Amino acid sequence: MDGTILVTGGAGYIGSHAVLALLDAGREVVVVDNLVTGFAWAVDPRATLVEMNVADPRMSDLLRAHDIRAIMHFAGSVVVPESVSDPLKYYENNTAATRALLASAVAAGTPHFIFSSTAATYGTPDRVPVAEGDPTVPINPYGMSKLMTEAMLRDVAAAHPMNYAALRYFNVAGADPQGRSGQSTVGATHLIKIAVEAATGKRNAVGVFGTDFPTRDGTGVRDYIHVSDLAAAHVAAFDQLAAEPARSHTLNCGYGRGFSVLEVLDAVDRVTNLKLDRRLESRRAGDPAELIADNRAILATLPWRPERDDLDGIVRDALAWERRLGEREKGRQG
Ligand code: UDP
Repeated sequence: MDGTILVTGGAGYIGSHAVLALLDAGREVVVVDNLVTGFAWAVDPRATLVEMNVADPRMSDLLRAHDIRAIMHFAGSVVVPESVSDPLKYYENNTAATRALLASAVAAGTPHFIFSSTAATYGTPDRVPVAEGDPTVPINPYGMSKLMTEAMLRDVAAAHPMNYAALRYFNVAGADPQGRSGQSTVGATHLIKIAVEAATGKRNAVGVFGTDFPTRDGTGVRDYIHVSDLAAAHVAAFDQLAAEPARSHTLNCGYGRGFSVLEVLDAVDRVTNLKLDRRLESRRAGDPAELIADNRAILATLPWRPERDDLDGIVRDALAWERRLGEREKGRQG
């Protein structure tokens, strides 16, 4: 096997699934996580966990000591409204921290870098599905902090022997189908997480943020991708970067189709056999009406195909994890 992969943020939601995908593919994995929002228990014990900030100057020694072939960089701050109220936190944790990590990678000669970017780099797209070459005009500091990192990657890859994949995630949801990890973040704000919290009695209702969008039923439309498919895309991206070291990639990660908020809640009702209480509310600041990936580039570039493009399946896996999380919390209290 050719080399160890370093996963930053590997104790978090998407990072922990990438760790599983890498281990399942037979890779050696070192996780770097400061455990501020992540959980040590979310890291598969087959991986080595180092509790450290990604900007720590000791990072280049760590990269050298483990002969790291690629960095998958998930660590960062991800709450859009918080990025509006505390922008410098986002420019610190996302942009500046990645600058420091890139400096360590360059110093250690790390050849490949895979970056968690976001559809928020597009802002409010002029058209959907939105493609990688379309204008990137972020409408919040979160999207801008990630777009600035994409710019650094481009420039660093031009100047140093490193190639990269910037993966622009659409709406990530669901959980490991084997029940090994899931979305465990405290105070999560994402629709499917909120809905399964309501389904398991942790909330009384689900707010529907905006019913007057120019969409088929007036609610926001998003491209929901199963977290395990997204994790698999990272493994495929690494293989591609290693196979063709002179090329870098910026790729949308989505299925190319959208569901409205009401369609998602219908799926949750179907899967749970419940009728969740829906509270119609006004729009959330900065929410675009519709965000759907043009995914032709990733399909053409990576040996990757969606395997879990099924909204009910995504909800089922998210729900199963939410129940496990409930058991875990009960166990800890009892
Ligand atoms: N949404 C909602 N109620 C919630 C959370 C989200 O109606 O409790 C809507 C939100 O306005 C958007 C969609 O669900 O149209 C997806 O939002 P989410 O926060 O999951 O992801 P985002 O697209 O903002 O990254």
